[in-house]
Amino acid sequence: MSGVRKSNHFVNLNLNVRGLNQSATLLINERSNELIKQGSTVYKLGLGQSPFPVPERVQEPCGGMHTKRITFVRGLMPLREAVAAFNFRHQGIECSPEDIIVGPGSKELIFILQLVYYGELIIPTPSWVSYSPQARIVGRHVTWVPTDEENDWRLSPEKLDLICRNDPDRPRVVILNYPSNPTGSTYPVPRLKKLAEVARKYNIILVSDEIYGLLDHSGNHVSIAQFYPEGTILSSGLSKWAGAGGWRLGTFTFPENLRWLQDAMAIVASETFTSTSAPIQYAAITAFQDHPEIDEYLHHSRRILKTLGNYMADRLKVKHITMPSPKGAFYLFPNFNYYREKLAAKGILTSFELCEALLQETGIAILPGIDFGRQTEELTCRMAYVDFDGELVLNKAMIEYRDKKLDEAFLRLYCSKMMKAVDLLEEWLDQL
Ligand code: PMP
Repeated sequence: MSGVRKSNHFVNLNLNVRGLNQSATLLINERSNELIKQGSTVYKLGLGQSPFPVPERVQEPCGGMHTKRITFVRGLMPLREAVAAFNFRHQGIECSPEDIIVGPGSKELIFILQLVYYGELIIPTPSWVSYSPQARIVGRHVTWVPTDEENDWRLSPEKLDLICRNDPDRPRVVILNYPSNPTGSTYPVPRLKKLAEVARKYNIILVSDEIYGLLDHSGNHVSIAQFYPEGTILSSGLSKWAGAGGWRLGTFTFPENLRWLQDAMAIVASETFTSTSAPIQYAAITAFQDHPEIDEYLHHSRRILKTLGNYMADRLKVKHITMPSPKGAFYLFPNFNYYREKLAAKGILTSFELCEALLQETGIAILPGIDFGRQTEELTCRMAYVDFDGELVLNKAMIEYRDKKLDEAFLRLYCSKMMKAVDLLEEWLDQL
């Protein structure tokens, strides 16, 4: 039977995505893969995906495969118990399994929160590519708070206060993300305490996106939930620190007095994704439990990211490219402003044109600052330093380099593509 697959009968009524394109990070990945297929060498610094494998210990109990039943909307109870214990172990946050909701990625949970909560949405820029498109999909206005490079692109408590002062009783959500995608910077404790004070003063609901928390390079990530427990929703998941982006498992931890918001989210969840994939939830229980192998895995992941991030930042800084020193996650946010005139002479006036030229002329795929809410002409970009064989590098760091300092020779041997990308970028800048 041959069905007719083409028809002219459908009117394009694609109005509900409000002119949005596919997510920038996923697009650059597809584009890079396409170029690779055509035979080009591409340095994939676009998509922010963890290079490391899922820890072996976490892969083992995928015995959950036998589970075919739909689980609870908010997540399996043993998993929620494990997440609550994990929060306590890492951050001293006292919470119960009832405070947790599990979803198919924290991205979905952040989206549903925006759907159910009618307050003003405040997002600092630069910020992760998806918060604002999600707001647009649900028809929400975003109040952007620009941050400064001098301040490592972090939200200042004074600015937040200024925004809230005129209408102090307005319901508000602020999305805070640290260690930050796209900048790789993080918040020191005194700044967190000040932000918590402002949040408390105006009864702000804080969504603290700490998905990179365990990838703070120092291993000392501190959650703002410690200082503002009553108003912070802690957002996290397995995608980054456990290398499990494709597993699609995220978690929200609510304070008890925001249970009404959690209930509203569970209603939408029950009418949309139903529950997170059961086998993945079973496997995730182990990831949140206390296992020395997982601590070891994290220790070495951080060592590698710290060494590589600092090395790349230092090389670029010598070339007058400015950026915050990397403190967590696997991102740099270089500013090419020093080259503005030379770039303009080549017809490059925007961050988008800069990234296009880099991709065409060097094969380096990075994302323009505009995708993170920055001005078109600002010459900032996000560089994800993840194009290396994470399994190999982790093995080398854990065994051969266990007691040896990770150095440039190590990076040249095992992260050669990243080294080549910096070399090429330097050459390209020299030729401007
Ligand atoms: N927040 C930030 C800052 C991210 O970078 C990402 C993934 N790129 C997410 C949330 C979503 O992660 P997931 O849906 O995989 O939990």
